[in-house]
Amino acid sequence: MSEILAHHHDRCTGVWRGMYEDGNDLIYCTECRIRYANCSLELRYAAIDENWAGIYLKRLTDEGAALLKEES
Ligand SMILES: [Zn+2]
Repeated sequence: MSEILAHHHDRCTGVWRGMYEDGNDLIYCTECRIRYANCSLELRYAAIDENWAGIYLKRLTDEGAALLKEES
């Protein structure tokens, strides 16, 4: 069965972080605070992939904002 990593809301811009608490490995979102306990490797890789995509999109957004600023 495939697990799905999802934020509380679709527009969440948080990133996934891992932590250890009360004997559980957790993944949680820094913004919406949803948590996944005892995550499978599949979920961990999904979190890494999403974080990587988020970093890339932030760079593109910053670059676009800088271009718009130059034009104005
Ligand atoms: Zn979130």
